[in-house]
Amino acid sequence: MHPQDSKPSSLIDLGKRYWLPVYRPREVVLDHGRGARVWDTEGREYVDLSAGIAVNALGHQDPDLVEALTAQAQKLWHSSNVFYTEPPLRLAEELVTASGFAERVFLCNSGTEANEAAIKLVRKWAASKGRPPEQRVIVTFRGSFHGRTLAAVTATAQPKYQENYEPLPGGFRYLDFNDVPALEAAFAHGDVAAVMLEPVQGEGGVLPAAPGFIQRVRELCDQYDALLVLDEIQCGMGRTGTLFAHVQDGVTPDIVTLAKALGCGFPIGAMLAGPKVAEVMQYGAHGTTFGGNPMGAAVARVALRKLSSAALMANVKKQSQALRDGLAAINAELGLFAEVRGRGLMLGAVLSDAYKGRAGEVLDYAAAHGLLLLQAGPDVLRFVPPLSITDEDIAEGLARLRAALQDFPREK
Ligand SMILES: *Cc1c(COP(=O)(O)O)cnc(C)c1O
Repeated sequence: MHPQDSKPSSLIDLGKRYWLPVYRPREVVLDHGRGARVWDTEGREYVDLSAGIAVNALGHQDPDLVEALTAQAQKLWHSSNVFYTEPPLRLAEELVTASGFAERVFLCNSGTEANEAAIKLVRKWAASKGRPPEQRVIVTFRGSFHGRTLAAVTATAQPKYQENYEPLPGGFRYLDFNDVPALEAAFAHGDVAAVMLEPVQGEGGVLPAAPGFIQRVRELCDQYDALLVLDEIQCGMGRTGTLFAHVQDGVTPDIVTLAKALGCGFPIGAMLAGPKVAEVMQYGAHGTTFGGNPMGAAVARVALRKLSSAALMANVKKQSQALRDGLAAINAELGLFAEVRGRGLMLGAVLSDAYKGRAGEVLDYAAAHGLLLLQAGPDVLRFVPPLSITDEDIAEGLARLRAALQDFPREK
């Protein structure tokens, strides 16, 4: 390659020229990372409070993950599910044990595939009970995000993700999140097979389920013989301070989906199936070529062990408080946020009315000040740092955020 071809601007031009233009990345080309810091191709350093969208839960270059991946890479990369390999066998057992409710696991490669498997499992379970297709309705909630495949995007009750992809698969009903009377009315139709929800809505604005809401969903599911499906793709794997988010809601789900931090950056997803549904799908009912790939599974085994550590969960609680305190201090000085909400290290700062719609602009200012940040919709700044982040990196991230927000133009 000619030296000038590796300039960030000419690299970015390649994306603009050749990628399907479905993304709009910030104008930096990241090169390498360590812990909660990342460097771009120009050598500029960033504090990473985005963690690859809540994926790099152990930060960058965790030595144990690197070791697991390289050791497996030197043995066997892939076998398909026509033959056994050891890592996905062990991972399935470890996930079942860690979950405390699941009996079986389906391994796949992404979040949307885990949800697709969950949707198919719900439908097949209802069919196995003799319910006709019109009585296999799955209830989901406005503001949810369940992925981009056609069924998952139909479960995603946000028009912006669905527009012009019609015809969409049928059998979904949308309700307002945390609205118990609407839920009771929806069940009264007598056609609900499952309720699917995120214990903390991620993409929809970092919005936790109200206290007691998921318990009420569970009761109604039991009363009407429906399944509770929890999408913990973003809020699971320790993100909210417990390995599984729903433990804090005091419920036992029938199905849980995982992905993002499951492989800490190596693509892998999983659907965990509890006793009511573990035997519903038999030979040939579902499948994937790459799912349970030995490299992904080898990494996920180590990730699961490390993310199950009490010391790490104590760090989530500590840094969550530090981040909340820091955001409150910034807000006291600069007054940009209406509210800070979320759980553990999944926090959202909701922009006040005067700054509504400008989260993307804030992200540009943050990047210019050496801070990688996310938004959750146009009005919410989303903080999902590595769970292993240190006191120093939280403090430095907050200092850079303050500087970015001081520079941020008050007038549009
Ligand atoms: C990211 C996400 C998904 C989709 O995962 P992909 O790996 O992008 O397919 C589904 N549900 C939730 C809650 C997510 O945050």
